[in-house]
Amino acid sequence: MTDNSIIRLAIQRKGRLSEDSLRLIKESGIKFSNGTGKLKSMARNFPIEFLFLRDDDIPDYVADGVADIGIVGENVALEKGKNIDNIKKLGFSKCRLSLAIPKEIEYSGVEQFQNASIATSYPKILRTYLDKHNVSAEIHEISGSVEIAPSIGLASGVCDIVSSGSTLLSNGLKEVETILNSEAVIIGNQNMSAEKKATLDKLIFRIESVQRGKNSKYILLNAPNKNLDKITALLPGMRSPTVVPLADKDWSSIHSVINEDDFWDVIEKLRTAGAEGILVVPIEKMII
Ligand code: ATP
Ligand code: MG
Repeated sequence: MTDNSIIRLAIQRKGRLSEDSLRLIKESGIKFSNGTGKLKSMARNFPIEFLFLRDDDIPDYVADGVADIGIVGENVALEKGKNIDNIKKLGFSKCRLSLAIPKEIEYSGVEQFQNASIATSYPKILRTYLDKHNVSAEIHEISGSVEIAPSIGLASGVCDIVSSGSTLLSNGLKEVETILNSEAVIIGNQNMSAEKKATLDKLIFRIESVQRGKNSKYILLNAPNKNLDKITALLPGMRSPTVVPLADKDWSSIHSVINEDDFWDVIEKLRTAGAEGILVVPIEKMII
């Protein structure tokens, strides 16, 4: 490992992205210590150094090359990001950026925001959205507690991050338009050296193996030989299923991999086709 191949990854120090970002790194087999209060840490078994920062600062650090890559929400990447690449969606910290108004006010459509005042921490994304809908509104940029703006008379509506909607509800607001669906993403500097890119490719390969494993299950079952064709057709697996004869000559054991999304549907069909003793096992990593 040469110094030139070490990449710096900026992750959120403390907040909603931190835990899942660290878990993803650990599941990718990368070992490092992140004692509380630490701002920097070098991995012990992979050419990567971590910087622990506020999420808002990460896009700029990545654009400037202080960090080579970073993990942020798409909302932050889009609001603060200039001259960065979106490298990979990570599937966690899913939320949306929405417009909301006091719940007692009837909503007729986005034109209702014409000449209104809207409080948000996302002025750039909001402006782009309003422009697209030919609505001109006054945007109040505030950095936190956006949802109290209507009740204190600062604005007539808000544009804020929503996941369950309970924060809006408890502040007497209702969600009326979704302007962005967001999840955590890896962003990258646009001028990374070839050595660093090679390290990044290795990291992405590991992350994809972990993600694929999470989306799949290993399945073992016993099948009557008379229905073997029908059952193996339901289980395409990575290449094709493993079929092993059982001591009982009328039966076989089948091993395969199935997708989490089709899981219950496939199980139902397998049972109907006479499969028995079905075992389903999680997969830690999956290399194809
Ligand atoms: P920092 O102190 O680092 O600036 P922050 O307060 O700006 O942190 P968090 O509240 O920790 O940020 O949220 C980080 C990101 O997590 C958000 O930008 C968004 O992408 C996502 N997020 C926010 N709220 C939720 C939620 N309720 N559920 C899931 N993801 C969320
Ligand atoms: Mg922040």
